[in-house]
Amino acid sequence: MNDQTSFYQDFTMNKNKKEKEFYSVDVGDSTFTVLKRYQNLRPIGSGAQGIVCSAYDQHLDRHVAIKKLSRPFQNQTHAKRAYRELVLMKCVNHKNIIGLLNVFTPQKSLEDFQDVYLVMELMDANLCQVIQMELDHERLSYLLYQMLCGIKHLHAAGIIHRDLKPSNIVVKSDCTLKILDFGLARTAATGLLMTPYVVTRYYRAPEVILGMGYQANVDVWSVGCIMAEMVRGSVLFPGSDHIDQWNKVIEQLGTPSQEFLMKLNQSVRTYVENRPRYAGYSFEKLFPDVLFPADSEHNKLKASQARDLLSRMLVIDASKRILVEEALQHPYINVWYDPAEVEAPPPVIVDKQLDEREHTVEQWRGSSSLYSYET
Ligand code: AMP
Repeated sequence: MNDQTSFYQDFTMNKNKKEKEFYSVDVGDSTFTVLKRYQNLRPIGSGAQGIVCSAYDQHLDRHVAIKKLSRPFQNQTHAKRAYRELVLMKCVNHKNIIGLLNVFTPQKSLEDFQDVYLVMELMDANLCQVIQMELDHERLSYLLYQMLCGIKHLHAAGIIHRDLKPSNIVVKSDCTLKILDFGLARTAATGLLMTPYVVTRYYRAPEVILGMGYQANVDVWSVGCIMAEMVRGSVLFPGSDHIDQWNKVIEQLGTPSQEFLMKLNQSVRTYVENRPRYAGYSFEKLFPDVLFPADSEHNKLKASQARDLLSRMLVIDASKRILVEEALQHPYINVWYDPAEVEAPPPVIVDKQLDEREHTVEQWRGSSSLYSYET
């Protein structure tokens, strides 16, 4: 008996029981059909994959977040992303990465199989909302430390995110932070023809924008952009498209050296060389004292450390950019260093072909993982 058959039998055996367990509720333009244990659904956000609600879980006696993946197998891009996210969420267990509590589908037969619901820990807000607040050095450095811990953990499992952004990072009022997603698959197309949903590129590193090879510190660039935004209160490189994204980077940081240009493929190099030349600004100019709380000697020191960290993260040439491990040791960050958080054993990702395989409804059907996970 193969997995698919056994899954099918499990599924049909539970059919009658499951029929009683679901109810539907309208949330905005969408209908959520969820297990009865989840009550009081309220919309809290939406992303490329669908709508997210908060709910009260009667079994666990706690509030949770429920994300509806609408027809995740409607095309290969959606199927691949949803499957990858589900598999990774189940494997990764770290306090700075969102945890999966349950996963279910309400459809009663394999033929009708449509939607998947992911139940996660509930957080209070995403980082976009936090950016609007005035943060002291303690909070700012603690948020950055947690981002770096989560990223280091993903890297240890061989997952390089490449698409970190404030909307995919969530926080609680006690300043704890979790990363919500796993970024771009190694084989993901980053360019045109992706999805009609507007893709935020502000935080993507030069090596992603310019289609170069990348290494783990590609994610440090994004942390630098996010830190800069928390300091400035506005997006650092608000490019209107792929091309403008690069313009915004060089206008502020300056045209990169010849050494960097030599790493580009011929057509991209020609484009980059033909841009106007910019000298860029010093980090004192880009992030002047007025942007930081610097009312005491201690805070002045912290402000200069924060600026130093920014200047090491926002480096166009990845070979000269600080590494995640080095950033965790930086004086602005290392005050929080806890080996249990930084050096947690890496998760084991069982599905080695996760990024290469194409996922269709057939794979979903065969994936007993959908029905076997619950806390
Ligand atoms: P996503 O579809 O994962 O991109 O999430 C879209 C938005 O929903 C996020 O930007 C958050 O504002 C919100 N959100 C998603 N998951 C959670 C969660 N576990 N706790 C709190 N808010 C969440």
